[in-house]
Amino acid sequence: MNYWCERAWLPGGLAERVLIRVEGGKIASVSTVDTIPLGVRRLHGIVVPGFANAHSHAFHRALRGRTHDGGGTFWTWREGMYALASRLTPQSYYRLARAVYGEMALAGVSAVGEFHYLHDRSNEFGHALAEAAKDAGLRLTLLDACYLAGGIDQPVTGVQQRFSDGTAEAWASRVAELKSDDVLKVGAAIHSVRAVPRAELSVVAQAFPEAPLHVHLSEQPAENEACLAAYGLTPTGLLHEAGALSPRTTVVHATHLTPEDIATLGATGTGACFCPTTEADLADGIGPARELADAGSPLSLGSDQHAVIDPLLESRALEHGERLRTGRRGRFSPAELLGAATRHSALGWDGGRIEPGAPCDLVAISCSTPRTAGSLPQQVLLSATASDVDTVVVGGRVVASGGVHETLGDVGRLLAAAIEELWA
Ligand SMILES: [Zn+2]
Repeated sequence: MNYWCERAWLPGGLAERVLIRVEGGKIASVSTVDTIPLGVRRLHGIVVPGFANAHSHAFHRALRGRTHDGGGTFWTWREGMYALASRLTPQSYYRLARAVYGEMALAGVSAVGEFHYLHDRSNEFGHALAEAAKDAGLRLTLLDACYLAGGIDQPVTGVQQRFSDGTAEAWASRVAELKSDDVLKVGAAIHSVRAVPRAELSVVAQAFPEAPLHVHLSEQPAENEACLAAYGLTPTGLLHEAGALSPRTTVVHATHLTPEDIATLGATGTGACFCPTTEADLADGIGPARELADAGSPLSLGSDQHAVIDPLLESRALEHGERLRTGRRGRFSPAELLGAATRHSALGWDGGRIEPGAPCDLVAISCSTPRTAGSLPQQVLLSATASDVDTVVVGGRVVASGGVHETLGDVGRLLAAAIEELWA
């Protein structure tokens, strides 16, 4: 299948009447044409590269609409998440994740990074997640997380025992049994400096030197305080000491950083994944996104707890957070926001651009909906939401159009069934 785009966001900017020829799931050529060839699929509106959702915990989707009212803190939200984690089996997680990844596909996501810590010392959950992503037509980077402690110098307790492999060596030998393929990439994760003791951090960092490495970093001031008290270093300093910061690493949240932390992350080329809708919902705070980007950290975006699955809203929230934090507008250009929303390299995949050689991942955003009508084409990324995503192409194949998933059908129904089963 070849595609004709009314408008496409190419590396050089917006172009009109663009013909994209596809071979073997990749873009073979990109050209502008005056007439539409026969047999091509027409994509109206604005076509952008497929989105990369760099930080997901698929099962947290079952908490949406059930945890946002009232008071509480990140730490009381975590109690709700633990209750859910105690109920999941590989089978029920497969049904939930398939529906969640289906929702992502409808929103234009073509690759997802699943930060996976519910493993019960086996790869059954990991295989279930891989199967779910395959069924939804997405590429998956399974970021299998080492989780050994319930806090600094604290044992795992209760449901946390399902997260722990006992030692970093046991974690590494289990993860080594997972095999990457065309649509699955196995990566590593340090859950956080709370959950992996100092001596084990370097074991995790060195276990899979070619694979993406992700880590939750400084989401809450309490993590920084505990780390400083125990080790005399910030979480960033501790990770740097362990050799865990490099261009293959992505730190997630990076909310509460010192100027030295920002300089270290930038100098090591470490990426930073912001999850603005989650960070707002959990009252985490607003991290120094502009400063990190200026220091040299490539930014990516994730929907994390999935209170919202919408890369367009997530990218806008990145800019809005900056505006609220600094009192200034235009902190990121639309091209920079699109770059963050399509940072496939954070997950070890090629992608994020419409040019020959790249995977043919396309998202057509309608410009004639009640939300987008009247917008200037170059500002549609600042007015559209996932509801305006019309057609989604992954690897040259249409996976969703008109709000319906090609193979899963009615994703809302699948989500309702998978979530109600867990709370029954
Ligand atoms: Zn997370």
